[in-house]
Amino acid sequence: MARVLRVARSSSLFGLGSRFYSTSAEVSHASPFLHGGGASRVLAKDRNVQWVFLGCPGVGKGTYASRLSTLLGVPHIATGDLVREELASSGPLSRQLSEIVNQGKLVSDEIIVNLLSKRLEAGEAKGESGFILDGFPRTMRQAEILGDVTDIDLVVNLKLPEEVLVDKCLGRRTCNQCGKGFNVAHINLKGENGKPTISMDPLLPPPQCMSKLITRADDTEEVVKARLRIYNETSQPLEEYYRSKGKLMEFDLPGGIPESWPRLLEALRLDDYEEKQSAAA
Ligand code: AMP
Repeated sequence: MARVLRVARSSSLFGLGSRFYSTSAEVSHASPFLHGGGASRVLAKDRNVQWVFLGCPGVGKGTYASRLSTLLGVPHIATGDLVREELASSGPLSRQLSEIVNQGKLVSDEIIVNLLSKRLEAGEAKGESGFILDGFPRTMRQAEILGDVTDIDLVVNLKLPEEVLVDKCLGRRTCNQCGKGFNVAHINLKGENGKPTISMDPLLPPPQCMSKLITRADDTEEVVKARLRIYNETSQPLEEYYRSKGKLMEFDLPGGIPESWPRLLEALRLDDYEEKQSAAA
């Protein structure tokens, strides 16, 4: 897909209007969710899964996408991470990006597609196949570009109430040595009007990470609120787009990882896959 994205990048992506194409492997449908085949059949096919995770900032896309990527042996590609890597590199784009990101705004489709295609190219060179995208697409233009270059099997739309999202973003921490993510927020949202109570225990770091925790520069209350507003403005057409293609799986997170992970695996029909993997290990 990196190859076609590269073609797209240099042609109709930004207004020149050529038509993209997919290879035969890329158009094969392989999602256990869409086709009920079970994960073992998916992995026996020509390529691995090509999934997208949608959801507001702080909902946990990174957490669940990363766990699934380990389970299924496909790369988890978060465009937010690509942006942060670019920021940290102090390259030519860095200053321009930091202004945008620190205001909670989206970077241009052109920049983000460039970063993504570079990442895919590097992965392809290492023999990677399939992906779980997290944070991409964020705009209809990005969804159209992606749809033009490859087939997405499944789009998982993770959901949590807005009150929880702000607290979760403000509680996010990363260890600047091992790179692992944690969350110091203790969430307890009482259920009202038929909605369930949502409680999540903090995900605390081990003692060796404690003094090395950093907070993302865009996880301040003001910027989180701006990011949520922008997400809400742009997500509806994206959800509609994938819903109309029969690819959208809505998933209301019932709580923290211990409650949500098994339910997500069940929804993806991967519940017995995890057991088989552990038994085989
Ligand atoms: P995230 O970690 O997904 O919240 O992304 C952090 C920041 O990176 C966002 O607030 C945007 O500024 C930028 N970003 C990440 N992905 C995209 C995207 N697909 N399109 C535009 N900007 C993005």
